[in-house]
Amino acid sequence: MTHDSELLFRYLDQTRQLYGNNLFIGSHTIQDLKYDKKNLESFCASICECQKCPLGSTRNNFVFGVGNPNADIVFVGEAPGEKEDKIGEPFVGRAGQLLDKMLGAIELRRKDIYICNVLKCRPPNNRDPLPNEVELCEPYLKTQLSLIKPKLIVSLGRVSAFTILKTKEPLKNLRNKTFKYEGIDLFVTYHPAALLRNPNYKKPAWEDFKMIRDRYLLKN
Ligand code: URA
Repeated sequence: MTHDSELLFRYLDQTRQLYGNNLFIGSHTIQDLKYDKKNLESFCASICECQKCPLGSTRNNFVFGVGNPNADIVFVGEAPGEKEDKIGEPFVGRAGQLLDKMLGAIELRRKDIYICNVLKCRPPNNRDPLPNEVELCEPYLKTQLSLIKPKLIVSLGRVSAFTILKTKEPLKNLRNKTFKYEGIDLFVTYHPAALLRNPNYKKPAWEDFKMIRDRYLLKN
């Protein structure tokens, strides 16, 4: 970094401390300027103090995502729950344990894939995300996916599918189809928490996972 840019960043940091994160310079924010656009970690560092919506002040941890930054498959859930908020990692509660088992059944481990959520902060009492929370947080998901460049996105559950596909079709009508999101294949399946509530969903969810395995994992 040159002396001039170091001075500039120091000045911007001081200004940020005084006025917060949302200072605009031309069409960029300080956050945009500070992150190396090729790097997921630096993108996380640039947004993890987000206060764009009120969930910023109730969260314990910003839950960015976990797994392989070069994964071919990205699983997208809804929002962090209590345990995820405490630990700072997606899908670490009961639903996450079931997800790990289903992944294991198609010979995938967390380090082979990437897992994240539509919302990066926990909605209080695990209520559904509000439309304005989704609207403010979705650009983060978009950037994450554009950095990872997976071959397949798997939407886990209604909120993820509705957000990404901008639809309100019942989830059962969205299964067994290949959609596109920003040019990437997208499948929809049940959320693992739904399987815990209603075991009748286990069979169709297993069919979906087998389809993922057969289409995206088995090499001829
Ligand atoms: N449910 C989700 O959708 N995401 C998590 O991270 C945990 C539970």
